[in-house]
Amino acid sequence: MLEIENLEARIEEVEILKGLNLTADAGKVYVIMGPNGAGKSTLSKAISAHPLYEVEGKIAFEGEDISELEPDERAKKGIFVSFQYPLEIPGISFFDFLYASYKAIHGEVEKTAFRTKVESLANEMEVNLAFLDRGLNDGCSGGEKKKNEILQMRVLNPKCVILDETDSGLDIDALKVVAKGVNSFRGSDKCIILITHYQRLLDYIQPDVVLVMKDGKIVKEGDKSLALELEEKGYSLCS
Ligand code: ADP
Ligand code: MG
Repeated sequence: MLEIENLEARIEEVEILKGLNLTADAGKVYVIMGPNGAGKSTLSKAISAHPLYEVEGKIAFEGEDISELEPDERAKKGIFVSFQYPLEIPGISFFDFLYASYKAIHGEVEKTAFRTKVESLANEMEVNLAFLDRGLNDGCSGGEKKKNEILQMRVLNPKCVILDETDSGLDIDALKVVAKGVNSFRGSDKCIILITHYQRLLDYIQPDVVLVMKDGKIVKEGDKSLALELEEKGYSLCS
């Protein structure tokens, strides 16, 4: 579903991604681990076409080269990237944000029916319904913002998702809810890439492939046992 070849990314003349290759298939869950500063968030931003990054190399999605597409065009194709640090946007309600995003991606939808669907998913994600009518993420805790993002993912129903440290800052109950949200989303037509530091997320979400990123490249690939080994021995294992 996603094929990345020789990806390079620069910000302010600093080279961060240094010829990264990654192939991700539908129906699978990938986990990317790696030390701070390895370029994990940069990879997610390069995939979403974040304007601050100068990117070279090829990104293909479902066989089509999307390297030159704008962020909204990539989103319309079915790519969803969550933020490591979700933003607060007071003044735009969470519901209006979801409604506008959904319509931009999937076309017109009747508002009342959409509201019912959003509320049902919000209940499943244990998101307080009052949040829907507040500013996006306004005054939410770190964990609440992460749950809001997974709710957004479920509502928009993309094909390929890259979730950047979705487990950071979550207490154990929120972690379980987020994991449940991701697991319900799993399917033969979905490709899920999780960026995480911690093995503990993998107690709840079984990955198919574990990748280690270091100094702007994928340096090691394995299965779940690799994550356990990394936790025990650290990233020096991959030098
Ligand atoms: P990770 O998510 O793996 O911790 P990042 O992709 O956030 O790593 O960052 C990779 C490297 O890029 C880091 O060394 C970081 O300092 C640098 N970097 C990220 N954003 C900027 C920026 N806006 N300006 C300069 N350097 C940056
Ligand atoms: Mg990061």
